[in-house]
Amino acid sequence: MTSATARPDRGGRIARARERMAAAEVDVLLLSVGTDLPYLLGYEAMASERLTMAVLPLDGRPTLLVPRLEAPRVEIDPELCDLVAWGETDQPVAMVADRLAGVERAAIGDHTWARFLIALQDAAPEVRFVPASSIVAPLRLVKDETEIALLAEAGAAADRVAEQLAGAQFSGRTERDLAGFIAGALVEEGHDTAAFTIVASGPNGASPHHEPTDRAIEIGDTVVADFGGRLGGYFSDTTRTFSVGEPSPEVAAAHEALHAAQQAGVDAISPGVPAGDVDAAARAVLDDADFGEWFIHRTGHGIGLEVHEDPYLVAGNDEPLGTGMAFSVEPGIYVPGRFGMRIEDIVVVTGGGARRLNESSRRLVVVG
Ligand code: ZN
Ligand code: ZN
Ligand code: ZN
Repeated sequence: MTSATARPDRGGRIARARERMAAAEVDVLLLSVGTDLPYLLGYEAMASERLTMAVLPLDGRPTLLVPRLEAPRVEIDPELCDLVAWGETDQPVAMVADRLAGVERAAIGDHTWARFLIALQDAAPEVRFVPASSIVAPLRLVKDETEIALLAEAGAAADRVAEQLAGAQFSGRTERDLAGFIAGALVEEGHDTAAFTIVASGPNGASPHHEPTDRAIEIGDTVVADFGGRLGGYFSDTTRTFSVGEPSPEVAAAHEALHAAQQAGVDAISPGVPAGDVDAAARAVLDDADFGEWFIHRTGHGIGLEVHEDPYLVAGNDEPLGTGMAFSVEPGIYVPGRFGMRIEDIVVVTGGGARRLNESSRRLVVVG
């Protein structure tokens, strides 16, 4: 069950990053807060006024500069890079700038604090800075085996939460209470942390990113539960819709169409297919069933070390899907003032199509 122990091939990732750096004439990669640093070196920087920065040159050994007080929690493969712990009176920006001698172009992590980038620009005025996403994002778009194993493990844990929910009492509880239950279950079922818990009942369901409130759930409500956690750095993200008591014929028909739309989206996935075609396939089913006007968002988003990342399944995205890409397929129907519903699974593109990482029942679940 725990594939989380498989070791990622960070040396291979660094080699691929360097290939892209060479092609883009980038001399050095500078990574701080954000997920590119753990992807390449296995360390996540604390967001802090004290600078953490990896300096990864095109040639030569990478260095990770960390505040001395963070150094004890750095567990990094010494084969990969050198560690420099700077003290409270050191000047870390100058220490990075010293390593930029001869550098013309540096790719810097997109989530690096502006204050550090501005200080670096002052300290190394001859360097042109470009976003590190231009180098790392295309690599991260395609998940390797260890990443897929972690996404699958997170997905299975989220499925067990969905199964717990299917047996839970809904009516009489507040959205906030149910959201708290989900947060606890996410950890209980194996996530390191809960990341988000959307519980949207009755008319609140028409808002896709509704924040749980003190509204008491009642018989006759449709309830959208969209939740995920982080496991080994990777996210789960699944949505199931519940009917508190028997659904009205209208809600049942809408969910039937939604179920078919989600399946059509998954069926459209294949290597080489433009990402936008998956959106079109799901949307066509809802259009045919006259629910299309209530499907107000894109069909899906990539997922990995971030909950939302490339690729986006949206009209106009002609980027072809490729084996190893992981993303959500999550059509929804949102009728303002009345109800909402969504079905969301994470899938991975395989040679033959798509592998779902969520397998809990996608049917409208009747709860009490
Ligand atoms: Zn969302
Ligand atoms: Zn979601
Ligand atoms: Zn999602």
